[in-house]
Amino acid sequence: MRYLTIEQRESLVKALKSRSSVLVGEIAAALRQKDTPESIHLANRFEEVREEALADLELALDIAAVERDIAELRRVTEAQSRIHTPEYGVCADCSEVIPYTRLQAEPSAVRCIACQRAREERAGKGTPPSL
Ligand SMILES: [Zn+2]
Repeated sequence: MRYLTIEQRESLVKALKSRSSVLVGEIAAALRQKDTPESIHLANRFEEVREEALADLELALDIAAVERDIAELRRVTEAQSRIHTPEYGVCADCSEVIPYTRLQAEPSAVRCIACQRAREERAGKGTPPSL
């Protein structure tokens, strides 16, 4: 990748990893709180295998509180698999390089701010992206 330094990329790898751990912890905690044998089993399994268990999570339980976490974890996991490819850090819509400052704030970002904003406006959300 031509514009990210090795240090920048390593810093983003770390950020994704720690975000992933936080999300996994939150999701597992929410599952345990639900306190059914099924949800506790899933929580244990989830902490062990993560990605493989993501699909099960969707089906298993309707826990509105962690839906956002699961969606974010999916984005983070996806970014982790993408970070060493040339597509990482390039806007999916306009193919411009996404500035490092934006990636620092949101390492799983797939679009530049302009395209993300345009997309959210199309989706009917009035709120601007956090960055
Ligand atoms: Zn763009």
